[in-house]
Amino acid sequence: MSTILQKFCRISNRSLSATRFCYASAKPCALPASRHSRSTTITDTALLNRLHGLHSITSPHLRVSKLADVEHQGQTYPIHAMALGSESEDVPCLAFVGGVHGLERVGAEVVVAFMETLVQRLSWDDSLISGLERLRVLFIPLLNPVGYARGTRSNGNHVDLMRNAPIDAEVRPPFPVGGQRVSRRIPWYRGKKNAPMEKEAQVLCEFVQRELFPAPFSLVLDCHSGFGFEDRIWFPYACSREPIPHLGETYALKQLLEQTYPHLNYVFEPQALHYTSHGDLWDYLYRQSLATGNPFLPLTLEMGSWRWVKKNPRQLANIDGLFNPVAPHRLRRALRGHIVLMEFLIRAVRAHNKWLPADERARQLQQEARKFWYEQ
Ligand SMILES: [Zn+2]
Repeated sequence: MSTILQKFCRISNRSLSATRFCYASAKPCALPASRHSRSTTITDTALLNRLHGLHSITSPHLRVSKLADVEHQGQTYPIHAMALGSESEDVPCLAFVGGVHGLERVGAEVVVAFMETLVQRLSWDDSLISGLERLRVLFIPLLNPVGYARGTRSNGNHVDLMRNAPIDAEVRPPFPVGGQRVSRRIPWYRGKKNAPMEKEAQVLCEFVQRELFPAPFSLVLDCHSGFGFEDRIWFPYACSREPIPHLGETYALKQLLEQTYPHLNYVFEPQALHYTSHGDLWDYLYRQSLATGNPFLPLTLEMGSWRWVKKNPRQLANIDGLFNPVAPHRLRRALRGHIVLMEFLIRAVRAHNKWLPADERARQLQQEARKFWYEQ
């Protein structure tokens, strides 16, 4: 390693690892650094403390539950879900998901920060409380806690959860990014053929099937980082370059967002425009949802982390820096930068009857969307 890189590594280590955290006990940890597979950071500690703190909040509008425990190297890592709003099956549903890829910590940070904002507002914001009577907002802020604690994209079994669904790409994906079964030592490992899905993936699928599929309309925002210089909103398919059946509805949502907030800067597009992949959980769930007859739109927020690297090339000295803003002011910018989008989604899901096209209008928008995304 070059002297400059060593210097930058020392800077990163000194600034980030002053406090360690034992995830299993959710307390500051007395173990020496050598006993941890990876030095957790101040940011980790803060996030995990905040998640833990949500359990102590008592509000008639907030329900906190544990979906599962994941065991890894003798420690237990819980996966939590939080729910706000109506428990009725006939209200629309919106879910925010973070931490599918443990290394992309900023995704979990964005979800937790927004959740905390809503929880604060529950104590005083009558408009939010009355709006939640006709809506359910769900959170799984950290789906892959082992990956988060280890600082890896994959889970504790080295499986990439977003390549783990039993679905093969129809267009050959790039190797190995699109998912591979050659070796668990290579990133983007799918897991063994015909093996059951990983526990975390199963937990997510069962949660979506139980909580979202019965809803008359549901939408997910799954928060990631790492691709390109721009913030992108991706929708299925990842496995195919064919449009989804709800292309018109998705196009209507894009138009609604851009007409309502013309100064936002998201690139809204199907993931397969960039690359196809095997095993995408949202492809898998979206296809299942078609049998319900209820529109289900899973979106992925892909925060463009390359621009953080461009502004601060020192981030390359640390793998975290490839996927997360290191400078505190850039992290704050990321945390506040997506609030408008998340608030918009709450309003759009609650008022889906006002904009979701049906029948002839949906077919017309489907044609427009095909021209826009697939026939240029
Ligand atoms: Zn990701």
